[in-house]
Amino acid sequence: MAARMTAKPKVTECPDCDGNGEITETVRVGARKGRATGHQQSAVCLTCWGTGEIPADD
Ligand SMILES: [Zn+2]
Repeated sequence: MAARMTAKPKVTECPDCDGNGEITETVRVGARKGRATGHQQSAVCLTCWGTGEIPADD
């Protein structure tokens, strides 16, 4: 059976979150310098939207 367009799309591990689907970003405060508070928060990776994979467009 020949592979068609309906085949499972190729994906590759998201480089931004290493396939975790979420990133840890440093919390910053202040309008100008963005002083780091030392806290970190997890956020959904905006590159892969939490899937940990991105389309491999060859
Ligand atoms: Zn990602």
